[in-house]
Amino acid sequence: MKFLISGIDAHICDDCALAAQKIVNQEKASSSEFNADFEDFLAKNKPKDITRFLDEYIIGQWQAKKTLSVAVYNHYKRISQNLDDQIEIEKSNILMVGHTGTGKTLLAKTIAKCLNVPFCIADATVFTESGYVGEDVESVLTRLLQASNYDVKAAEHGIVFIDEIDKIARKSDNPSITRDVSGEGVQQGLLKLIEGSVVNVPPQGGRKHPDQKMIQVNTKNILFICGGAFVGIDKIISRRINTGALGFSSTQTGLKSDNQVLSNLSPLDLKSFGLIPELIGRIPVHTYLNELDKEALLRILTEPKNALIKQYVKLFEFEQIALSFDKKALEYMVEKTIEFELGARGLRSICEAVLSDAMYELPSDKKTKALTVSFKYAQEKIEQSNLNSLKQAS
Ligand code: ADP
Repeated sequence: MKFLISGIDAHICDDCALAAQKIVNQEKASSSEFNADFEDFLAKNKPKDITRFLDEYIIGQWQAKKTLSVAVYNHYKRISQNLDDQIEIEKSNILMVGHTGTGKTLLAKTIAKCLNVPFCIADATVFTESGYVGEDVESVLTRLLQASNYDVKAAEHGIVFIDEIDKIARKSDNPSITRDVSGEGVQQGLLKLIEGSVVNVPPQGGRKHPDQKMIQVNTKNILFICGGAFVGIDKIISRRINTGALGFSSTQTGLKSDNQVLSNLSPLDLKSFGLIPELIGRIPVHTYLNELDKEALLRILTEPKNALIKQYVKLFEFEQIALSFDKKALEYMVEKTIEFELGARGLRSICEAVLSDAMYELPSDKKTKALTVSFKYAQEKIEQSNLNSLKQAS
């Protein structure tokens, strides 16, 4: 130490001042490194390029892809903007409405992959208001920290997918007089997290307790994507558009399908469903996912980069067996998926039912070099499987 620099109430020595400057420089460098990375990415990838990337993994859902690509592009543009600029662009968190198994989680996951940022999924149903049994909303950030290997800076640029956000809607449009610890209370908790604040996060998750060391995470640049099925919201929309449609099918509104009804989703409908206006305001970008029909399911089975059929072909290739499927067999498998009401998620169970015998027998059978799954073969295997008993039981 050579000298002391005096402040208002204290002094700092030259060594400590230098050490502090080093820390400040490191912090600045790492955040500008991030900004440079994003700037570089955004220079090469415009919203249309992001959609093209999503197309490789996700079938259909054009509207959701377009909305998501623009929102994500703007979000990272906002992060990489020069902080000295006069106009600060607000964060655009996203809400996706669509039946289960239509690809909401897949979309969020794929967009994080495209940007190469930490990503985590949280289920809103496990949250309760702070102080009650259940998880505090901050536990979401523990997961994000884990996904980034406890690199706080990386986590602060990550994406959080909050699933089943519809399950924390308050039970009626009127504020309740009794305490609503898993509904409105949680929405209030989420609000703070989503709008951007510095949050104390327990590094190992679990409940906060007084002597646990906390990690501070700033959520200002974390993108929150929320998803939910919002069962019944189509009725709320129909009612708003045309009160005469109450209790009747959506055709009364002049709109042909559920998808067309959903395309009219407005913040008013979300409020009627039970989300608090403050939270709706913090999730300003809304989009919806279409119900998957037979044609979409068939494409999901075969087309995406890591389509199920491609995965099974690869598995059989390891055993030097060429696996192929007749078109009729694939169509039958899709019909069964629809019949069992399993959504796109059910394709996997159907494939397992069709192929599990072959996966058991063929590796020890040195002679078989090819397997073509015909309609008859698929039918026989599905009929033998326990999937049918599930159907009968229901
Ligand atoms: P959600 O979050 O809407 O309930 P997921 O994204 O978890 O649905 O979808 C479940 C699975 O179904 C995914 O892992 C994926 O394999 C498949 N899937 C669903 N929708 C699509 C789609 N549009 N394109 C490709 N695969 C899909």
